[in-house]
Amino acid sequence: MGMISKLIGIVFAAAGFILLFFGMNDTSGLSFVYSLLGLITMSFGFALLTAGKPKEEKPPPPTVTEIRCNDCDFKEIRDFKKGDYVLKPVEDACPKCQTGMTIEGVYIIREEPKETYNV
Ligand SMILES: [Zn+2]
Repeated sequence: MGMISKLIGIVFAAAGFILLFFGMNDTSGLSFVYSLLGLITMSFGFALLTAGKPKEEKPPPPTVTEIRCNDCDFKEIRDFKKGDYVLKPVEDACPKCQTGMTIEGVYIIREEPKETYNV
């Protein structure tokens, strides 16, 4: 990806330079427009060149928390929240029987088989 943006940057910088060059040599009233366009294109190209690697925002590995009701067989899997740990009592009550619930597991979802870790 970095190579492509650099290549685009070079193309833009070159195109801008050509536009600027033509604009300066143009005797018609469009000379100003060409020069301006050239400058903009060139600076855009240089910006791309100096920007380096495009930001690749990697989301953190999806982590889920498995909650189980203390009384019935209700089970819920929700997104991991900061502070979750195994066997932590959950504030929410079971929607089925209103009993307290406990975190039964914290999992990191990967392509490989699930991995459990105790916090
Ligand atoms: Zn329940």
